[in-house]
Amino acid sequence: MDLVLYNTLTRKKEEFKPLKKGKVGMYSCGPTVYWYQHIGNLRAYLFSDILKRVLIYNGFKVNQIINVTDVGHLTSDADEGEDKMEIAALKEGKNAKDIANYYFKIFKEDFKKLNILEPSTWAWATEHIDEQIELIKKLEKKGFTYKTEDGIYFDSSKFKNYGKLALLNIDGLESGKRIAVGEKKNKTDFALWKFSSGKEKRQQEWSSPWGVGFPGWHIECSAMSIKYLGEHFDIHTGGEDHVPIHHTNELAQSEGATGKKFVNYWLHGAFLVDSDGKKVSKSTGGLYTISELEEKGYSAYHYRYLCLQTSYRKQLQFSLEALDASKNAYEKIKNKIIRLRKENNHGNTDVEHHKKQFLEAINNDLNMPQALEVFWEVMEETDMNTRTRLALLEDFDRVLGIGVKDMKEEKVVIPKDVTLLLVARQEARKKKMFAEADILRQRIKERGFVIEDLGEDGPYLRKID
Ligand code: AMP
Ligand code: ZN
Repeated sequence: MDLVLYNTLTRKKEEFKPLKKGKVGMYSCGPTVYWYQHIGNLRAYLFSDILKRVLIYNGFKVNQIINVTDVGHLTSDADEGEDKMEIAALKEGKNAKDIANYYFKIFKEDFKKLNILEPSTWAWATEHIDEQIELIKKLEKKGFTYKTEDGIYFDSSKFKNYGKLALLNIDGLESGKRIAVGEKKNKTDFALWKFSSGKEKRQQEWSSPWGVGFPGWHIECSAMSIKYLGEHFDIHTGGEDHVPIHHTNELAQSEGATGKKFVNYWLHGAFLVDSDGKKVSKSTGGLYTISELEEKGYSAYHYRYLCLQTSYRKQLQFSLEALDASKNAYEKIKNKIIRLRKENNHGNTDVEHHKKQFLEAINNDLNMPQALEVFWEVMEETDMNTRTRLALLEDFDRVLGIGVKDMKEEKVVIPKDVTLLLVARQEARKKKMFAEADILRQRIKERGFVIEDLGEDGPYLRKID
């Protein structure tokens, strides 16, 4: 069955055909590691994870690269403001490298909790300065660059069809809204290399043929994707905010430098928005982190499940009420799977029919809401051999990634002091010292357990959720 994906470049759903049989090269724009990634950022990686899992399910071998931006991303996605890493270093009084490592570590922990598959390579911008300089040199040789007081710029008027990815109406762009023209020749020109200002010493700067400075944000993705995937590769992903600036610039500078088509399929994930429908970025705050959700009693899987319920191309309005509903549904699945493991029913329903339905859903531009429907149908299908049913659900979970294999009854370990309190409470009850017994019950509760009196079977300790 054909896999069909929506390509931003053509604004159409297209059949996916890899450049090399059975293999996919995929580049996903990654985090800027100056602060925590909120659940909005993480939705972008859940989307690329689903895409990758669908490709793997279809039998492809996927080589995925995710970049880690630890220099050059300015406070505006265009070329204004200051380097986010440098600001964070100054604010936290730390070394930029330590800040990058700290937030990257947390980001990776969130990845694990969300059951997102790790890329083949994490590509760090500061570890690829030479590659970025080489690419700028290529562009310079081909006449795409010019120098201003603060850096080396890409002349977007020299690249035919500059706005093709975003369908930009360049003449209609208000200057100043996107990029202040200043010394630039065109409002859509962007920095490839920025000079250190000389006013204050930057923590991160390098020498280059044009002077000491640092790379612009966009060039890292072109240089690193070309290094790891070649000048022409299959899939490029990112958030929808990347279409008009970041990916438009990446495309122009890559194709400008190589003279070849850069990427066959551009895919973009829609934003997670707050309850007022406003887009939320790290700099404006407003969205939770995974740890903050955990503190409120939700797990990363509850959030993953929430994201699966909406197509990646639709904005998703976040609210705790919506997350509550996902938590309930997820816990229902978990309980059902645990029960299924204890059953041994027989039945006649055909598996192939459900398998086909599932594949149809995921191969139709990653239709996860429909794939979840098939998952529920199989889970509730009583006329099917239980072992087969479980195996099928586990197979679907290769794409959904909701952790079916790990859904097992949790073995609760009761601490020794709680057991001793329970023994003391039984003694008190035997002696009809009910006030003492109640106090002991309360102390057990404070330790996180309730006593269920089960008559003849004696008391039983249940962990409070
Ligand atoms: P950043 O760390 O700011 O470079 O962003 C990392 C990724 O998160 C990028 O792919 C963005 O497009 C994406 N992103 C940022 N905010 C949101 C949001 N509210 N919803 C979905 N994706 C987002
Ligand atoms: Zn990028």
